[in-house]
Amino acid sequence: MNRTSKLEANNLQQLFTALQDKGYVTVGPTLRDEAIVYDRIGSANELPVGWSDEQSPANYRLTKRSDDSYFGFNATPQSWKKFLYPPLRKLFTMRRDGKSLELSNESDANIKYAFVGVRPCELSAILIQDKVFQSGEYRDDAYSAARRDLFIVAVNCTTAGGTCFCSSMKTGPEAQKDFDISLTEVFRDGAHFFVVKIGSELGASIMELVETGAASAEEIETTDAMLRQTESQMNKTMETDGLPRLLAENLEHPHWEDVAKRCLTCGNCTMVCPTCFCSTVEDITDLSGQNAERLRRWDSCFTVDFSKVAGGNFRISTKSRYRQWLTHKLSSWVEQFGVSGCVGCGRCITWCPVGIDLTAEVQAIRGAETQQRKGD
Ligand code: SF4
Ligand code: SF4
Repeated sequence: MNRTSKLEANNLQQLFTALQDKGYVTVGPTLRDEAIVYDRIGSANELPVGWSDEQSPANYRLTKRSDDSYFGFNATPQSWKKFLYPPLRKLFTMRRDGKSLELSNESDANIKYAFVGVRPCELSAILIQDKVFQSGEYRDDAYSAARRDLFIVAVNCTTAGGTCFCSSMKTGPEAQKDFDISLTEVFRDGAHFFVVKIGSELGASIMELVETGAASAEEIETTDAMLRQTESQMNKTMETDGLPRLLAENLEHPHWEDVAKRCLTCGNCTMVCPTCFCSTVEDITDLSGQNAERLRRWDSCFTVDFSKVAGGNFRISTKSRYRQWLTHKLSSWVEQFGVSGCVGCGRCITWCPVGIDLTAEVQAIRGAETQQRKGD
C-alpha cells in the first residue's frame, strides 16, 4: 500500500469503524463544558466540527470557525495521559477473611485504545512518559499494558495556538514518526480532505479497510506549505541552547523571587502538563475494618504535602516550589531521562490562573545572565 494517500473528509467515519471492528475503543477530542476535551467517542460526528480555540496566558475560550474542520483547534485542557496514567488508579483492594487477608489487583489495562487526534507535541509527551514509566528500576506495568495495545492517529497542526512553542522544542508542528497513521487536514476552495501517512504495519492494515485515493504532488505540497506556515505563526519561542546549564547555574537568581510573588502554588501547571508524573498513595478503610483500598492519585510538586518528610518540609517557600518545577522540567529532566521534560504544548501558560509563562521566565533569567556576561 502507498505510504501517503488521500482520505476524503466524508470518509473519516470509515477510520472509526475500522478501528472499532478491530476491537479498539476510540478516544478523541469532543466538546464538553465549553472546552474541547479527550473522551471516548464513537463517531467522527462527535469531533468538535467547526470549532477552534483562542489561547493566551490565563485565557482559553472556544471560537467558531468559518469552515467545518474536524481538527481546527490546538492543545486541549487535558492531555492523553489521563488514559495511560489516570488521575486516580486503584492499585489493589484488601479484604479480611478470618485471620487472613485477601488481596486483589484491579486494572482496566486490557482496554485497547485508539487515540484519534494526537498532536505532534503530545506524541513526544507520550514518548517521554514511556521513558518515565517503562525504563529504569521502577516500572509501571499498568501503563505498559495500556501503551502496548495503543493505536495512534496523529493529527498535524495546521494552525498555531496562542501559547504553542513546539517548533522551539522540536516536537512539531508535524509528527515525524512513532504514530500508526498521521493525518493533515486540508479545507480549501470547497475541498475537504486529509493527506494520510502510514507510520506502521498496523497502521497500513487499518488503512486497508478505509477508502482512500492517491494524493497528488500538489496536495502533498499544500500540506507541507500549511505546516511551514504553522511554524512561522508560532508567536512564542524558547531558546534551548545551554538551557539545562543556564538553570542549574542560576538557582539563586533574583527572578525566582519575582515569579514567587505571582505564583499561587495551585498546581494547575502540573495537572495540565502532558509529561508531569508525580503521584501520591492513599489507603482507605471502611468502618468495619474488613475492607481496605490503596489508591494512587496525581500529585504536584507545588503542594506543601509533597515535600513533607520525617523531620519537616524541605520545600516550603513558593520560590523553591516553582524553581523545583521549572528546573526539573528543563534542566535535571535531561540528566534523568535524556530529553527535556517540556514539549512546548503551552498548556501550563494557558491554564495558569495568573498567566505565568515559562518561556518569559526562562528568557528573564537568560537575559539577565547575558547582560551580566557583557558587563564582565
Ligand atoms: S505557575 Fe501558575 S499554574 Fe503553576 S502553581 Fe503557580 S499559579 Fe498555579
Ligand atoms: S511544561 Fe508547559 S509547555 Fe512544557 S510540556 Fe508541560 S504544559 Fe506543555
